[in-house]
Amino acid sequence: MNKKGKLFVISGPSGAGKSTVVSRAIEGREDICFSTSVTTRAPRPGEVDGREYFFISFERFREMVEHDELLEHAEYVANRYGTPRSYVNQRLEDGLNVLLDIEVQGARQVRKKMPEAVLIFIAPPSLEELERRLRGRGTDTEAAIEGRLIRARQEFQEADFYDYLIVNDDVDRAAAKLSSIIEAEHCRFEDWAVWLKSN
Ligand code: ADP
Ligand code: 5GP
Repeated sequence: MNKKGKLFVISGPSGAGKSTVVSRAIEGREDICFSTSVTTRAPRPGEVDGREYFFISFERFREMVEHDELLEHAEYVANRYGTPRSYVNQRLEDGLNVLLDIEVQGARQVRKKMPEAVLIFIAPPSLEELERRLRGRGTDTEAAIEGRLIRARQEFQEADFYDYLIVNDDVDRAAAKLSSIIEAEHCRFEDWAVWLKSN
């Protein structure tokens, strides 16, 4: 059966463990692909252009917005982030599931444009633990960590429109929950109605 892929949106404060949990959950799965965003933020040590992000200038970002090349975009702690539209549409048409790791304002835009998208919020067990993880990661300046903690509090308040919430207390457990959500979403009755009738 030739079905369109599903769009999964993952959000949660920086340092909650989104990248860690997502890479564990999709390891070895060929039916899911990750959409690489564009950002004006500078690469962290070890980050590779085209892998974690496409690192671009503010000027290029403005151009992409003007030409409507982004499915959604937002400002986050003095930088801009966005999802290239053509990649996502192409993969969904190919029947692949696409996963976005984006913040709350962007997720709200996706909900409006693609109401069928599945929205998942990954939260740390507490703000104290979030701060420990941000410091432990050792990739952000003190000012960036402060900015991310302020933003985390706002995101908790704004995240009432998500479909699922996963508390990332333990990576294996959180990854198992994410995999279960993906599986369950593939068992939605309405997606199988045509198949049922053809049998
Ligand atoms: P995000 O993608 O949400 O910004 P990361 O995946 O980079 O977060 O994780 C932030 C830090 O927290 C990393 O150093 C990671 O190894 C660590 N981490 C992630 N999940 C857990 C967990 N369940 N328990 C302890 N540390 C974690
Ligand atoms: P970081 O700088 O830690 O990689 O990401 C900061 C925040 O930006 C995270 O919450 C991440 O989910 C979000 N983000 C990454 N890419 C995008 C994007 O394309 N669009 C939006 N709206 N947010 C993004």
